[in-house]
Amino acid sequence: MAQDIIDHNRFVLSRVITMIESNKEEHRQKGSEVGYPDIAFWAIPDMRMKILDVALKVMKQRNYRNPARSSIRLGISGPPGVGKSTVAVIAVDPSSQISRGSILGDKTRMNDLAAHPNAYIRPCATGGSLGGLSQHTDEVVLLCETAGFDVILIETVGVGQSEVLVSEVADMFILLLPPVGGDELQGIKRGIMEAADLIVINKADGDLKLLAKKAQSECRSALQFLRGGAGHKWWKSDVLTCSAQTKEGVNDIMSSIETYWKLGDESGDLRLRRGKQRASWMWRKSKEDIVKMLEDCELVTKRAEELEVELRQSEKTPRWAAKELVKVFMKTGKDL
Ligand code: GDP
Repeated sequence: MAQDIIDHNRFVLSRVITMIESNKEEHRQKGSEVGYPDIAFWAIPDMRMKILDVALKVMKQRNYRNPARSSIRLGISGPPGVGKSTVAVIAVDPSSQISRGSILGDKTRMNDLAAHPNAYIRPCATGGSLGGLSQHTDEVVLLCETAGFDVILIETVGVGQSEVLVSEVADMFILLLPPVGGDELQGIKRGIMEAADLIVINKADGDLKLLAKKAQSECRSALQFLRGGAGHKWWKSDVLTCSAQTKEGVNDIMSSIETYWKLGDESGDLRLRRGKQRASWMWRKSKEDIVKMLEDCELVTKRAEELEVELRQSEKTPRWAAKELVKVFMKTGKDL
């Protein structure tokens, strides 16, 4: 399977991603769903570990040989309806500015792109736990890279913490904003703007163009008070405007991405950033695993029921009850 992925087999790529995303209870069912009914469900966790291991080695080797050719991971966030998909379709067009060609025609959208041999689109269930990302986003990205995709776009809806999280999996975090005035911009969390490497005001066309320009200058002055660009020495976050409809400004975004990529690569910072991201994924995954183990442990859930009664009657403090639950779990001596 790993070899099939390396050979750019999108069918196998999809199957393996499905397998990566399945949880314990789903393994048996997913085994047949992904076209490998003969794979025992208990073998899947081990198998996906091995595939990811191969993928990691392949990417390490490729990057070692030619660092400049490794993939670029772009995180795109913004409120619903701001135009993320539309802008991303233009950005991902294999013949677009990033490779110096034409931009997709007006009517060409996600569906057409999904059928393009050079593109692969994968909606990922978020599982609710990580805002816009799933517990496996980093692994899905790695597999896509192994399959040879060199521009990876990770799109999340801008709710809650997801914008900050997408910067934990992307080399560059692009925040897309609508052409709205100062008051509405006030609602955008400071942390999100701070984490953005580039802010783009979309829909700068027709009647909205003027508003977009106004939002741009307001955003720019807001940025002056923030530590933009996640604090890179070699990069100062900027605010650009674009219209995904008329394509105006899209080329400027592309040049900005290319400059960022070049400077980040030269400074060695992008490599450092990925290293830090992997460490934070380790913590994220282990925390999630521990919570899941607690929730799956029968002795714990049983004790929790009793404790909940006591808590309702204010007989014990939540802190005491929490410690009690962990104690019960530790006593089970359960292993991963
Ligand atoms: P998403 O929810 O952020 O992915 O937003 P979509 O990409 O689905 O776009 C939401 C709507 O905004 C669609 O009807 C798009 O046609 C429209 N839209 C996207 N980009 C532009 C733009 O640059 N200008 C205008 N006027 N409309 C746009």
